[in-house]
Amino acid sequence: MKPQRCPFCRSSVSLIDSAKVYGCHYGFIYLCDSYPNCDARVGCHPGSIKPLGTLADKQLRKWRSLTHRKFDPLWQLGAFSSRQAAYKWLSKAMRLPLDKTHVAMFDIQQCQKAISLVEGFIRDGQRVKTKASTYC
Ligand SMILES: [Zn+2]
Repeated sequence: MKPQRCPFCRSSVSLIDSAKVYGCHYGFIYLCDSYPNCDARVGCHPGSIKPLGTLADKQLRKWRSLTHRKFDPLWQLGAFSSRQAAYKWLSKAMRLPLDKTHVAMFDIQQCQKAISLVEGFIRDGQRVKTKASTYC
């Protein structure tokens, strides 16, 4: 779904070449028309004009990248068998439908919730590991 309005300032949104903002072309982005006063934006899937998620301003981008930093190792390092399995767990834990469980669609509250769920998961995992090791 193409973004129609900026969720932060309600301006219209334009599809532009990323070079306009980043100085180099690596695809298209949706950018708030109030840029540079509002710099909400979202990138597109490679080679398409399909947005990766919803528009994010600077603060939300920071939270989303932090969420990725916490969450991605769960499937990258094998705590879950696959990326899909990790997202299934997150969708259940967050009580969100699976097709809405994407970091690129999260708002700040959802990022914070996901981070605390991941941290809880890691804490519990360590506890299990510690317990098991006493049997060795
Ligand atoms: Zn805006």
